[in-house]
Amino acid sequence: MLSLPQEFLHKMAGLLGEDYPAFAASLAGTSCQGLRINTLRVSVGDFLSLSPWDLTPIPWCSTGFYYRESDRPGKHIYHFAGMYYIQEPSAMAVAEYVAPQPGEWVLDLAAAPGGKTTHLAALMGGKGLIVANEVHRGRAQVLAQNVERLGIPNVIVTNEQPQRLAQYFPRQFDRVLVDAPCSGEGMFRKNPAARGEWSPAHAFSCAERQLRILESVPGLLRPGGWFVYSTCTFSPEENEGVVSRFLAEHPDFYVEHAPRGSGVEPGRPDWVAGPEELARTVRFWPHRLAGEGHFIAVLRRREGTEPRRPSSEADRAKDYLDYRSVIENILSRVPQGRPVKVGHQLYLMPADTPELAGLKVIWPGLHVGTFKKDRFEPAHGLSRILRAEDVRRVVDFPCDAPQLARYLRGEALPWDGPDGWYLVAVNGFGLGWAKLVKGVLKNHLPKGLRQTSQY
Ligand code: SAM
Repeated sequence: MLSLPQEFLHKMAGLLGEDYPAFAASLAGTSCQGLRINTLRVSVGDFLSLSPWDLTPIPWCSTGFYYRESDRPGKHIYHFAGMYYIQEPSAMAVAEYVAPQPGEWVLDLAAAPGGKTTHLAALMGGKGLIVANEVHRGRAQVLAQNVERLGIPNVIVTNEQPQRLAQYFPRQFDRVLVDAPCSGEGMFRKNPAARGEWSPAHAFSCAERQLRILESVPGLLRPGGWFVYSTCTFSPEENEGVVSRFLAEHPDFYVEHAPRGSGVEPGRPDWVAGPEELARTVRFWPHRLAGEGHFIAVLRRREGTEPRRPSSEADRAKDYLDYRSVIENILSRVPQGRPVKVGHQLYLMPADTPELAGLKVIWPGLHVGTFKKDRFEPAHGLSRILRAEDVRRVVDFPCDAPQLARYLRGEALPWDGPDGWYLVAVNGFGLGWAKLVKGVLKNHLPKGLRQTSQY
């Protein structure tokens, strides 16, 4: 395993003083494992009664739990079913500080692979609009896959430079999250490969990039709204330093007090000779709590005189495509949203979505299905928001049923019943579709999602 860079250790010893031995010892220890229950699919109580693992609550996230290293939740069918997201425990604090409300407009500016996006969506109960942006196209696609797997109805995934988004959403978001690319010192224990990329120059160049990303926020955030800036690194220049430089240029922003639970430490204005308000930011230290290193700042924009974003909902309602007739023979509960046809594909966008023409949109919302010549085929994405009671026909298996493993491998299954579309489910949670034709359930799990041996 790569050893920790000497220069990094020397720097941390200088910053931490008498706390340094405990810090160094924690980095030599093991990291904790966490999963966050996707409450858009299953309540915490219901999941705990189904869970095969002994889970322990994470203090700063009511839906987050530690699991043991020997458990393998990433390989369980419930993971495939989107019932949780495996996430580093300290990272689960970030969306809690964003604290989005149902119905708000939220931007996740650096969103892949989607840990915070999926958490924000759960906190909003799937209501409102989340624009999840990622500059790297390949990573934006992974983000979209996670949004699909967790059955999130109100997310649009874009692949844009932050500055371009401001042209489409001028000062319109209620909340913005900048979970910035950083030097990753807080992940040295969990991901030793990060150690090899470290250098003092890298931390400084990260700080310049972080500040450039933050410069796009004033064009996106509404007056009175707030944004959260977070990193998974210890370096003051990327944390308090970046916030201090941002505040110096933007007097209409101030640091909001971020509440601190047990073991969570305040930010350190003294490390960057910055304003006292930096002490309202928070630091997660691996020697103080069971999680990796994180920094979180909540910055609020002062109220202005601008009117709030106008609602376009009433105008749009009259243009809504009526798609009920094509889906009513499959679903007993038709999901809400703004139906949009793109070519032969039907999507449901979050109800209040503005015009996005010209933006690079990777995932326009919930994929409902495809219009074929004389029929309509339900999309895999749709199956991920459904429970057994939402559909006309279902094939529901317990999690250890051998048919389930065969379905996940892409095999057809014998079945008795009327011909048509069936939701295939585990304990009532939709996994995908199958079409029954003359006693055979034809497998419609997308090829890229079929599992060879995992489950
Ligand atoms: N929020 C994500 C999550 O919870 O899963 C993790 C985000 S990761 C810390 C930072 C992200 O910023 C990466 O996906 C990276 O591709 C992206 N990024 C890199 N350069 C960027 C830039 N100049 N502007 C915006 N995002 C950038």
